[in-house]
Amino acid sequence: MITGWNLHQTKVRCKRPFAIATGIQDECSGLLLELKCQDGLSGWGEAVPLPYLTGETLSGCQAALQEVFLPALIGQQPLALETLRQRLDRLMVGQPAARCAIDLALHDLCSKKAQIPIWAYLGGDNRPVATNYSIGLATPREAAEQARALVEQDFACIKLKIGQDPDLDLERVRAVRGAIGPEVPLRVDANEGWSYVQARRFLTRADAFDLQLIEQPLPRWDFEGLTRLRSLSSTPICADESLRGVAEARRLAAMGAVDVFNIKLMKCGGIVEAREIIAIARAHGIQLMIGGMVGESSVAVAAATAVASVWRFEYADLDADLLLKANYSEGGALHEPIGYRHLPTVPGWPLGSLRAASTELLASC
Ligand SMILES: [Mg+2]
Repeated sequence: MITGWNLHQTKVRCKRPFAIATGIQDECSGLLLELKCQDGLSGWGEAVPLPYLTGETLSGCQAALQEVFLPALIGQQPLALETLRQRLDRLMVGQPAARCAIDLALHDLCSKKAQIPIWAYLGGDNRPVATNYSIGLATPREAAEQARALVEQDFACIKLKIGQDPDLDLERVRAVRGAIGPEVPLRVDANEGWSYVQARRFLTRADAFDLQLIEQPLPRWDFEGLTRLRSLSSTPICADESLRGVAEARRLAAMGAVDVFNIKLMKCGGIVEAREIIAIARAHGIQLMIGGMVGESSVAVAAATAVASVWRFEYADLDADLLLKANYSEGGALHEPIGYRHLPTVPGWPLGSLRAASTELLASC
């Protein structure tokens, strides 16, 4: 039975300011939730609210947890994942990052109570997941230098941020492809930066660069535009900002708008919701990518790694914590060999001890 909770604020910094078409990030804040049980076990979950993607500010996310969701969990059984989701659904709409923190903390408790690793609890295995490493918006020359250095470090896949002027973007792609050679998979992400005409200009000229996929070429609401683009693009199209929860997944699938779904636990509200999106994708022949947000750290990246491994996602962007100077804790998903993520074979998330400099207790019950 859940008897109490602690809520911490986390503060982490990027190794270098990370720029995408919609803005730049350097310092990132999030929330770390500890759910406490009668039997002495604790379950940990992470929230990284991002107004532009999850519709939540940090203080709004904290208020949703403290004032609405967490009081409703006291006295409840943590194993009842679906029942608890329905209970939270009746209390407040939206708030996916706040819900994600709870969902991950409950999964942590389930795994610890069952005394098996989280991937075993989810019914899968712990195969290492190959991840890309992301390069933010940069000049073609800078992007090429970063890409070359990453391939020299043994990263087997590069993700390049684009989404400004399509001709400049083509130059970025040309420079990076030239630097890494023809064999290394290269994926790009326009982060909603283009109009339909700009996206068409890019995609009808991109064939020579053998792009693995392109994420979010159009604004999130333009499902019709994505559908039209897909019909003329030989590069697979991936929905990221367009896909938050099950409702968008159903509509994108019914329209045949995209080839790939980028699932992020912070967008959809956790693993229980992600499982429904996975089922929709598989039923429609849509491939899956696991994503994360800049600022996600030990618990959130471990959870995304588990989901990608268990449900055998075709693509993984599991570099959020690698972009940071340091995680808020000593733990996190393993990164070995370079470019591959997996989890240690212990129950629950590999949190490790918290770093005092990057965590602060906000509230307790
Ligand atoms: Mg994206």
